[in-house]
Amino acid sequence: MRYKRDTQCVHGAPERAYEDGVRSVSFPIYQTATFAHTKIEHGQFNYTRQDNPTRLHLEETVAALEEGADAIAFASGMVAIAAVFELLSPGDHVICSEDLYGGTTRYLNNVSAKNGVAVEFVDTTEIANVKAALRPQTKAIYLETPSNPMMNVTDIRACAALAHEAGALLIVDNTFLSPIFQRPLTLGADLVVHSGSKYLAGHNDTISGFVVAATKELGDAIRLTGKTTGGMLAPFDSWLVLRGIKTLALRMERVQKNALAIAKALKGNPHVKQVLYAGLPEHPAYALSRSQSDGFGGMISLRVDSAETAERVLTHVRVITFAESLGGTESLITYPLTQTHNDVPEEMRARLGITDTLLRLSVGIEDADDLIADLTQALGD
Ligand SMILES: *Cc1c(COP(=O)(O)O)cnc(C)c1O
Repeated sequence: MRYKRDTQCVHGAPERAYEDGVRSVSFPIYQTATFAHTKIEHGQFNYTRQDNPTRLHLEETVAALEEGADAIAFASGMVAIAAVFELLSPGDHVICSEDLYGGTTRYLNNVSAKNGVAVEFVDTTEIANVKAALRPQTKAIYLETPSNPMMNVTDIRACAALAHEAGALLIVDNTFLSPIFQRPLTLGADLVVHSGSKYLAGHNDTISGFVVAATKELGDAIRLTGKTTGGMLAPFDSWLVLRGIKTLALRMERVQKNALAIAKALKGNPHVKQVLYAGLPEHPAYALSRSQSDGFGGMISLRVDSAETAERVLTHVRVITFAESLGGTESLITYPLTQTHNDVPEEMRARLGITDTLLRLSVGIEDADDLIADLTQALGD
């Protein structure tokens, strides 16, 4: 039986939940490196790098939420992303959104380039740019939507059609909306990646990552890389993410409600020049977002009137914490220029609008009034 998403978050993969015989309601942490054998052919579990029941329960939960054939849990979002790019070979070409998580841009510019993969960054919000960039060697299109930190939205269905016509894979980083608000595999994507450190774990207390595959074959290829290179998620961290996911649907609902209240309140602040949030009806991608997502999430970027204002906000917030990362119960504010996007080449940052007046806010589950009051006092008179 297929449960609704909110129930899936709480109960995980229910057929696995009671297999330990003692019927513990919280799934056990199998803190072991290896598993004993009773006969020559080995059973399902052999060695934790390869397979572990706690991790498998988490993987089945995430696969169900994303409506994928398989999900593989890694020790970080970056290891998950690296596993996806292991599918490419020297001479292959990949088209990427130009507005990506800074670590992904760093990976592509260093590791992929060194491995002979040609990486081309394009503004994927204009589908004509993606079409124009396709070459016979194009093996993948890689998107983040909404993007980080500019909150630009790319048409997932249109990119899937282009990719498949060209015999390429469509890969979507779904960290920002989580499967509660967006399920790219149902829109035609072949692979979804996540930083599980963000909304999935949800409490700013661990690092993890996922690849979710539309087909068993793609899942097997990613599992082979995981087992071979060894960046798999440990049993205890798997349990932390499982516990985080129990409240994922509730948290997403709350951060979205708070984000909309903050976006509306800040629009009228004299120090705020622009509020970037696709949940505002005047956002250029509002209609596209509604057509492919069930929500707008809890990430807002702000363009303030000067670098001094940006610095004042970062050093004067009290409820909100000035820290890198996103997607947790606590609201965090980030300075993309010197933090998340510091390794993005300067001319690219300038083109994208990642300047000294841009702030990024990950809205938490606190009371919206306290968050608005905090931002208002930090912005000053
Ligand atoms: C944080 C993040 C990553 C990297 O994940 P880690 O868990 O930090 O390795 C990738 N993509 C996005 C959108 C992120 O926010």
